[in-house]
Amino acid sequence: MENNRPLLELINLKKYFDVSGGSFFKKEKKYLTAVDDVSFEIYKGETFGLVGESGCGKSTLGRCIVRLYEPTGGNIIYDGEDITRISQKEMLNYRKRLQMIFQDPYASLNTRLTVQEIVGEGIETHKLYTGKEKQDKIYELLTTVGLKKEHANRYPHEFSGGQRQRIGIARSLAVEPDLVVCDEPISALDVSIQAQVVNMLEDLQDNMGLTYLFIAHDLSMVKHISDRIGVMYLGKMMEITTSKELYKNPLHPYTQALLSSIPIPDPKVRTSKKRIILQGDVKSPINPPEGCRFNSRCRYVQDICREKTPELREIEPGHFVACHLV
Ligand code: SF4
Repeated sequence: MENNRPLLELINLKKYFDVSGGSFFKKEKKYLTAVDDVSFEIYKGETFGLVGESGCGKSTLGRCIVRLYEPTGGNIIYDGEDITRISQKEMLNYRKRLQMIFQDPYASLNTRLTVQEIVGEGIETHKLYTGKEKQDKIYELLTTVGLKKEHANRYPHEFSGGQRQRIGIARSLAVEPDLVVCDEPISALDVSIQAQVVNMLEDLQDNMGLTYLFIAHDLSMVKHISDRIGVMYLGKMMEITTSKELYKNPLHPYTQALLSSIPIPDPKVRTSKKRIILQGDVKSPINPPEGCRFNSRCRYVQDICREKTPELREIEPGHFVACHLV
């Protein structure tokens, strides 16, 4: 994969929110650094899992990629073109190629539209099909995501959470995208439905040649679907490597703690593995201090960790870690 040109490249991407509030004359500015200097790339046909606790900036990053949020700094290179600062009009072409599946399948669907209207919106905007061709395309999409033709004239509230997520997926696929940002697409679903949706996303990837950025708060959710995984903490990327290597040889203390908290079904293995309980407070992402963002909870913290921000360095081929001690 590394020999190919990346489909998506993020270079020092930043997204800060101004949270100064208060009086107009107040001089001191306060920023919430949701995404801070994050760089990585995604290759065509791969699934890149992005993991971290809630508030680490992973969803903000996903929204910057599809330009629902305007980045504060850095660059987004899509298929060789810098799309960071192109106008919303120019972005329309990329909207077709870059789609997003949202976490909450109910809030993300317009409850006043029928399934047919929801799925057909993108087809109309991008003038892909009209008349019978459009109708057939909508039926085909519904079948592809495991729904029926008869569902086309119903409204979102008539469906279960899992079915609503399938409608959201059909809507994203309607414009035949290359890359889909899946923002916690299974977190709001029952455990029994989660595997079905993940399997369906994998089948769709094989059949349609899709590339995924799969965002999740839990490493167990991305384990099977991801080729490579990035671990974020308080707006910074802490570790990137292949899924296999991350589970076999996690190098960052935060990744080690996340992995140790995954429940293990086999009781023999469970008793031999020690869970790492993270102590200390999570720092605020508002004007965060110098040093490693994880230093307040790290069991290996040293003086240097409070003074200097560790760079994300390639420790072994394809394995990147941001830690002074690795
Ligand atoms: Fe822990 Fe220091 Fe490494 Fe940060 S840089 S993860 S505080 S050892």
